[in-house]
Amino acid sequence: MGEIADKREQPKNLGQNEKRQRYRNYHKVNICQLLDFTKRFVIYLHMENKSKHTRPSWDQYFIEVMEAVAKRSTCDRGRSGCVIARNNVILSTGYVGSPTGSPHCDDVGHLMKEMIHEDGSKSKHCMRTTHAEANAIAQAAKNGVSIDGATLYCRMTPCRTCAMLISNCGIKRVIVQHDYHGKSETAEIFKNAGVKFEMLSTAPPSYSDQ
Ligand SMILES: [Zn+2]
Ligand SMILES: [Zn+2]
Repeated sequence: MGEIADKREQPKNLGQNEKRQRYRNYHKVNICQLLDFTKRFVIYLHMENKSKHTRPSWDQYFIEVMEAVAKRSTCDRGRSGCVIARNNVILSTGYVGSPTGSPHCDDVGHLMKEMIHEDGSKSKHCMRTTHAEANAIAQAAKNGVSIDGATLYCRMTPCRTCAMLISNCGIKRVIVQHDYHGKSETAEIFKNAGVKFEMLSTAPPSYSDQ
């Protein structure tokens, strides 16, 4: 121990201490630089993520609202929803459901009817509910809200009855999320009424007993 203590006191050992101190200082600087770099990198990643956020278009926004509305539906053959908007403001909403006070399909089962078409083909439909589009129009009427010139967003191509209602209440644009089989009549009704008809996907949604 005495020998080591003696060596430290010698000028040569003092030089080594100085080297050690310089070495420590050098690493201290490097650690500070590394922390600074890490901080800058985290800020960069944060800004990158921020810039990657893309706001939905108004059409996407209303379609997403329509999907939320559709969750209130009471018939699992087509949990459809509808949003009617004008100038980017929602005027009315509707979803598939039984008339006020009547039992729901989810509680008592569907009320199925078979339709025979002109070409002999058959299709089955649940008749217990009022469709989402008709319910949205009914809600506007109940609240005294004009939907003239508005855009209607819904899940599937509207049926003939809904297409006629949509045309007659002055709606000028219809955007559907999915096509629905056998609805060429709807396109014809909209064309005659000057209603712009847009489809996001041509694939129809599937459910049993169509
Ligand atoms: Zn049903
Ligand atoms: Zn309908």
